[in-house]
This record gives sequence, structure tokens and C-alpha cells, in this order.
Amino acid sequence: MPALPTNPTVWIFEDQLSLDLGVLKEFPDAHVLMIESKNAFSMFPYHKKRLTFLISAMRHFRDELRAAGRKVAYFDLARSPYLDSIDALKSHIKTTGNRKFVVAAPSEYHTQHWLKTLPKELGIEIEFLDNDLFLTDREEFARWAGPLKSPVMESFYRKSRTKFDVLMEKGKPVGGVWNLDKENRKSAPKNLLTPALPAFAPDAITKAAIKDVNRIFDSHYGETNGFDLPVSRRDAEKTFADFLDHRLPDFGDFEDAMVTGQRLLFHSKISSLVNSGLLAPMYCIRAAEARYHEGKAPLNAVEGFIRQLLGWREYVYGIYWSFMPEYRDRNSWKSELKLPEFYWTGKTELNCLKQSLDAVIEDGYSHHIQRLMILCNFATLLGLNPQAVNDWFLTMYIDSHDWVVTPNVVGMGMNADGGTMATKPYISGAAYINRMSDYCGDCKFDPKLRTGETACPFNFLFWTFLDQHQAVMKKNFRMSMMLKNAQRIDAGEMAQMRKQREAFVKLTIKGA
Ligand code: SF4
Repeated sequence: MPALPTNPTVWIFEDQLSLDLGVLKEFPDAHVLMIESKNAFSMFPYHKKRLTFLISAMRHFRDELRAAGRKVAYFDLARSPYLDSIDALKSHIKTTGNRKFVVAAPSEYHTQHWLKTLPKELGIEIEFLDNDLFLTDREEFARWAGPLKSPVMESFYRKSRTKFDVLMEKGKPVGGVWNLDKENRKSAPKNLLTPALPAFAPDAITKAAIKDVNRIFDSHYGETNGFDLPVSRRDAEKTFADFLDHRLPDFGDFEDAMVTGQRLLFHSKISSLVNSGLLAPMYCIRAAEARYHEGKAPLNAVEGFIRQLLGWREYVYGIYWSFMPEYRDRNSWKSELKLPEFYWTGKTELNCLKQSLDAVIEDGYSHHIQRLMILCNFATLLGLNPQAVNDWFLTMYIDSHDWVVTPNVVGMGMNADGGTMATKPYISGAAYINRMSDYCGDCKFDPKLRTGETACPFNFLFWTFLDQHQAVMKKNFRMSMMLKNAQRIDAGEMAQMRKQREAFVKLTIKGA
């Protein structure tokens, strides 16, 4: 590692809001630079709740840094005359005379790429230190994933459990099984009541952020109305403690369930808090593990929760950094349809989609099974362009960052990455949605029918997707098993389903 600069400015980005960041500890007397960049916040027409969350969290972190005795140069987009980070940066250099910067390696490819252009452009030095908001070193992950045709999450997860000694006993997984996913697929019983998530009334900082977002990002999607998210470390910790006490014990059983009117069920909704640095992943992992050892939460719940953080989160980060930038453009199913208008409005007669979309449009959030089983499943079956779907997820979710959305959508959700993350697409017809949710009961379509006026579109899209892609599927053992069921369908019925697909596409997508 090259010698570290003396007296640099520590530059912190909107997803690095942690006093425990190594780069802050390494330079305890350095100036800290934070910039709210209008251009960065306009890269997509981001949901207003996402912007409110990030801007308010940044301002709370600025105050936390100052309370800890740090000197902070903060460019507030409502008061700074600068639209872009580069102009704010130039102003900081002019004021302080400091041309040396250190950063924790940015989580996103485009930010790192841009930072690397700045030394030449501005005559400054930028040193990159580890980003310790992630537990796995990027190079180490790339060395593991590189030679593998399909570096699957499960083997990475087992390695990480062993490495960090999480839920382990004498070198073996606690309970004798690594992954209890099979126990985590219960459908919700009727009249299931789930605890409400703690709500935080906007304080003065958040009220100002709401005002700024509504004024500056007026044309963006979503509304700030009802904003009640935690934006400070203290409130983030309260939210997580509430999850441990009230939702973790049932999280596993109902992890894949979906219920009308109960958007969160037993999910934690901490992804935006962890992804911005307000909660440290290992803090959450150890706290959940302790609940198991104290007998306060069952193993299937704790293991399922830990797998999300120690497994999935780290794994998608590793996949992203191993395969970007070309990963983002992968489209192995050659799907080119544009997004139906209803992704932005929620106006659709498919009730499962409507329930999932309404949650995202109103809250900027839906839990992972709605993302995967409803929104990405539908997008894959219909043949939507994966990059368009990826952009939609980046725009609409409060917890969106390129490093997490892109592998989850292009890879896991739409299997457009050519099988890097999963050897077969995560697709299903209506039967699985009907089993895991109560959505079909209130839908004009019939989940049992695959042809006819009231046939559920998920059914004819599913079977015709398999039919369309026979040539590719035949070459892959796991996919060929799916295909066999499609090949048993009577030719006349398949022809009818093809017709229905065509009509549905025309009806759903303007100009298709
Ligand atoms: Fe969704 Fe089909 Fe069920 Fe309607 S019937 S809710 S479209 S799966």
C-alpha cells in the first residue's frame, strides 16, 4: 500500500454515513468533505422519499461528525450555488488550499471511475482506502468467483459463516444445517396481524430536506407525504431493536408470504439503513445471532436473516465488482420490450402486480419476495428489457444503489446475466403466487386457468416463455427439467397461449 498522504481531506459519500469508517479513524484531525450534488441526485428521477432519506441522513451525519469534534465542509444543495460535486470540490480546494483527498472506496462503479479521472483534471491526489462498510474484500471475492462458471451464493455464504464464525459450533453450522430456506416458505394464515413498524415524525432537519426535495426535484417520482423513516443513527438503532423484539421470531416462517394491506409482514426494512452506513452489517448479524443463543428467536428466522446480510448482501457486492461494467448490459434472454406504463402508475388489473407496485409508488419500498416473485418474475416472463427494469428499480426504491440493484435485477431477478448468479431463471406461474399470497382471491383473473378470457397472464406467459426459449433451455440440465412440463402441453393449447401472449403484450405495452 502506498504511503498515506499527510493532512488530507476525507471525502465522504452519501452511503458512507458511519463514524466507524476506517478512513475517518485513520485521519482523526482531517477536514471532512460532504457534498449534496444535484447532478448525482438527478442521475435517475429518483423517488422523492429516497432523496429525502439520503439528504436528511447526510445532514444528520454532518451534525454527528461535528458533535464528535470533526471539522466538516458541507455543501447543502439548498444553499450551495453549485449544482455538481466538481464545482463544490473546486470551491473546497480554493478555500482550504488542500489538494490531497482520501476516500473509502466508493460502492458504485461509476463513482469510482469518475473519481479516478479527477487527479488529472484538477491536479489533485486521491487515495482510496478500504470500504469497511462491507465485510468481504473485493479482490478476495474476485479471486474466488473468477475461475467459476457459476459462483453460486450458497458456497460463498458457507465460506463467510466459517470465516466470521457466525452461527457455528466446533467448525460446523449450528443445528447441523447451513441453510433453512425450505422452512421459510409458510403462507400467512388468515387474520395474521403483524406489528407496526416504528414511525419517526420528521424533525427540523427532515422537514427542511422534504422542502428542498419538493422544490428542487419536483418532477421526480413519488411523494414525500407521510415520510416517517429513521434518518439518524439513534433512530436506525431503535428500528433495528424493534425488529429484534417484535418481528425477528416470525421473520423466517413468513419470509416469502405476501398479504394484502400488510406490506412489511415480519421483514426488518433495514436495507436503506445498512446501505447508507447508519447500521453496520456485523452489528446486526451479531445481535440477531445473540437472539438465537438467548432462546428468543428460532434458528430458521435467525439463519434466514443472517443469510440476507452475510450471504446475499456481500455476495451481490462481490458479483458487482467482479463483473462490472459489462455486467449491467447483459441480456442473455434477448428481451427488448419497454416497461409498461403501469410500473409508474400502479394501474393494472393484475392484483399481485398492483399490490406490489402501489407499495413501491407510495413507500419506495416492497419486501424482497414481491421484488423477486412478482415484479422481476413478471418482467422476465413478459420479456421486458432488463436494463429498463434495472433503471426502474434504481429510480423507485429508497434502498437502491447500483451495486445492490444491478446484480439483484439483471442477475438474480431476471437471469439476464447468462447464469452467473443462478443456473436457471427464477420464474413461476400463478400457482406459487396463489400459494404464497392472498392476492389471487381479489383478482379478476383465475390463477388456475392458462387459456381463456380470465386466464391468469402469469400462466400463459410462463408456459410460452419456456416454449419460446426451448433451444437455450435444452442445453441446461436444470432448465431442461422445467421444459419437460411445457413439452407435455397439447399443441393446440400452446398455440392458444401464444395468441394470448401476443394480445396481452399489445394491450400492455404501447407500440409493441
Ligand atoms: Fe396475480 Fe394471476 Fe393471482 Fe391475479 S390471478 S393475483 S394476476 S397471480
